Amino acid sequence: MKLFNGISAAPGIGIGKIFTVSSIKNAQIPKILIQEAERNSGWLRFESSLQLTKEYFSSLLNTSNKEQQSVVQTYLLMLEDTEFIGQIKHEYETNSFNIEFIIDKKVHESADQLKAIGDTYLAERAADILDVYGRVVHTMLGYKSADLGSVPEGSIVAAHSLQPSQAMMLFQKGIDGLLLCEGGVSSHMAILARTYGVPAVFGIDKIEASLPHEAEVIIDANKALVILDPDLETKKQYTQHKTETEQRLSKLAAFITKKAVTKDGTVIQIFANIGSVEEAEIAEKEGADGIGLFRTEFLFMSAAEQGLLIDEETQYKAYSSVLEIMKGKPVTIRTLDAGGDKVIPLAGMPGRSEKNPLLGNRAIRFCLTHPDIFKTQLRALYRSSVHGKLKIMLPLLTDIEQIKKTKKLIHEVHAELEAENKPFNKTTPLGIMIETPAAAITADLFAAQCDFFSIGTNDLTQYTISVDRDNIETAPLFSEMHPAVLRMIRYTIASAHQAGIPVSVCGEMASRTESLEVLIGLGVRNISMSPKKISEIKAFLSQKVLSEMKEIADTIQ
Ligand code: PEP
Ligand code: MG
Repeated sequence: MKLFNGISAAPGIGIGKIFTVSSIKNAQIPKILIQEAERNSGWLRFESSLQLTKEYFSSLLNTSNKEQQSVVQTYLLMLEDTEFIGQIKHEYETNSFNIEFIIDKKVHESADQLKAIGDTYLAERAADILDVYGRVVHTMLGYKSADLGSVPEGSIVAAHSLQPSQAMMLFQKGIDGLLLCEGGVSSHMAILARTYGVPAVFGIDKIEASLPHEAEVIIDANKALVILDPDLETKKQYTQHKTETEQRLSKLAAFITKKAVTKDGTVIQIFANIGSVEEAEIAEKEGADGIGLFRTEFLFMSAAEQGLLIDEETQYKAYSSVLEIMKGKPVTIRTLDAGGDKVIPLAGMPGRSEKNPLLGNRAIRFCLTHPDIFKTQLRALYRSSVHGKLKIMLPLLTDIEQIKKTKKLIHEVHAELEAENKPFNKTTPLGIMIETPAAAITADLFAAQCDFFSIGTNDLTQYTISVDRDNIETAPLFSEMHPAVLRMIRYTIASAHQAGIPVSVCGEMASRTESLEVLIGLGVRNISMSPKKISEIKAFLSQKVLSEMKEIADTIQ
């Protein structure tokens, strides 16, 4: 029996066998001495992989938008760079190592030289060269994306990191736990694990070496603990603990059909945070008052994994389905929040090679500099507005101009839809996330420009106290109860009330009981969270008295 500690990303107990999902990104490139006779076949393998990679990128030219096309063309030029390929050949012929090792070495040398110049454009090319030749080498080594179809139900999945769409597929399949090296408590992977109620522990070092494939394991995500090869007594105790937890959760089911009301009668609206149509079904089943945050970037990520930029029709269908599933309850859909921690694996999308992606051309900034992508989404959103009670929300605003520019694009979209005789609701409310200090401090100015606020405490905390929400090392510093964060929240609420617009909280802070008390005490009456938390929070609120929560909030400076 061996114990490992990490951080608790999603609560619960999981018991099962490990299924290791190897990540290509961290795959080892072998370094092998070769015989002279092998040299030619190595080169031929390189040429064949080069050709396959070129064919792959050429096929993307038909599906990509203009921006992506130019990136894909850069990739193709790199794959046809005879000078660089000549350098690889020279190195290969004057060394005795395998071709994969030589390519990897030359590519990294070349990327390091570009990066050393200190120019942003060249740094991006360095990332491109690593990306494009990385694909060539992985093809040669036969590395493929993990076949998640073969993961048995009830497994505990262990990986260095996962793509959100891979995680969603696993969660829908029914795994009993997730163990990752990367990711913080507020990372998207953690949010997804909580949405699906899958116990998860992150921050496990050297995961593949520490936790072997098929080994028996217990995850106690409540204590951020992983027990490898548990003895019989430990297994018995945890099996009992798991059954008790399941029984407790089934008792909470009584709250599904109830409203969220404090002991002294204050009604709180509880909405759900979702990232896909399937999660809207979960939200509806868990008794959500509506959708408080639909993170649309997951739709973009899923399409991107097929090499595609999601089109208007696919978006329209997804948004309309969510509105229909929620049967007239409010549905707040957030426009694309790409970049930073939300990487969309597609050429031309933000964050791949920026020096500082969290402060880069992400979210609303990216959308406004890519009006073709933004307008496609806005068209899909407005077209879906006739299927239910839609609200549109913009992420990561820092400047009033961004909302003004968005409104201009919305006018253009309205004019286009009118000209095409496509029905839409012109009065669909337009709101914003308050998730940057700039937006919180100028919340009074923003309130005059939009119909509602939703406070994104994950990013607001990250940016206010300058602590990466995804970084395990700095996780102890990530506190939504930091006075600076609470002051921002207090001012935002006051500004919303002053302007007479609704304010909600959709960050993780709203689903943690100790911080929720403070939020309610500060005047929040609308909250949004992982659907699986809703009943628990309703039960918690039913025991709480408003005046006591106000007293707690009043103690905050
Ligand atoms: C937030 O930042 O608090 C938020 C809800 O948005 P996301 O977690 O998607 O960044
Ligand atoms: Mg955010």
